[in-house]
Amino acid sequence: MTYQSTCLMAAGQIELADAQMPSTIEPGFVRLKMATASLCGTDLHYYRHFANAGFELDNPVTLGHEACAHVVDANGSALLPDTLVALNPIINCGLCEQCLIGQINLCTAKRFPGSATTKPHMDGFFREYFDFPATCCRPVAADVNPDHLTFAEPLACAMHSVNVGQIKEGSEVLVTGCGPMGLLAIVAAAAKGARVTATDIRAETVDLAKQVGASEGFISGTTEAAERTATFDTVIEASGSAHAFNLALNLVKRQGIVSILSNIQLSDTRIELHRIMLKEVRVLGSFQFNREFEEAVRLIESGTLPLDPLIAAQFPLSQTAEALELMLSGGAAGKILIKSLAANAPCAA
Ligand SMILES: [Zn+2]
Ligand SMILES: [Zn+2]
Repeated sequence: MTYQSTCLMAAGQIELADAQMPSTIEPGFVRLKMATASLCGTDLHYYRHFANAGFELDNPVTLGHEACAHVVDANGSALLPDTLVALNPIINCGLCEQCLIGQINLCTAKRFPGSATTKPHMDGFFREYFDFPATCCRPVAADVNPDHLTFAEPLACAMHSVNVGQIKEGSEVLVTGCGPMGLLAIVAAAAKGARVTATDIRAETVDLAKQVGASEGFISGTTEAAERTATFDTVIEASGSAHAFNLALNLVKRQGIVSILSNIQLSDTRIELHRIMLKEVRVLGSFQFNREFEEAVRLIESGTLPLDPLIAAQFPLSQTAEALELMLSGGAAGKILIKSLAANAPCAA
């Protein structure tokens, strides 16, 4: 039996092909049918450069690490067929020093789908069917919206940045950058009971930030921005811009925390490093997530999060390239979803 799959062949080149379903499933893995997937900045980096954060792909790979799926073959696991599952893409070793203390995000032998850091590369989720470890599948009730459940992974990343930033009820929080990760950081911080201010260079994303939990927002680079003072307990940097990092160092309180959720890009802007010392700012990195995945799934299951405004556009799997081009154009505010075929559509024999 064949199924529809996408593959990144080279920079800017996504190929749609019929892939052959393996006749057997690896022990410990289950066979899944993708329900909804979403595009991440990482996918976009691979699409543009065939590399991300200095890691080059050795060969063509299927992208995608944010998705939820239905169980097709439980392969002896406790999962029930047809169950909707959230997919935790971190396949950690369980044996290294980091794993033993629960920091699976920092596992030294981690495997991750659709990534150059895993060798040989492991194909990701932008395909109709795939096999994945049963331990990475978190079953949910049938009435959970798959379009929300696909956010479990990026929401978990955002929740980790909130925990790194020691954000709690009543915290004054600034989120710099209202792209998909910044917006999810706003959702996560607001869910903790923090009071969130959002900033971005684009007015429409600041408006979107207010729809998903920010109490107020301002457009960076304006006089309003220049009049802001250092009133924030925590700043989550989600833009990747050196300019925003300076804004974070400027507006965080003395002894406050700047939680870095983005990959800050090199630029000609000089980083005002002296502020770190003068204000005793704690600048902390936030990479992926640990227990936050389970917390993210529970929050999504509760149905209380404002996730619909985050959905910018939806594309069928066959138009994954068009979806990536839309993200590349910057024309979408929020997340772009990839949908598999209708649940009951027959697959090609
Ligand atoms: Zn991602
Ligand atoms: Zn490990």
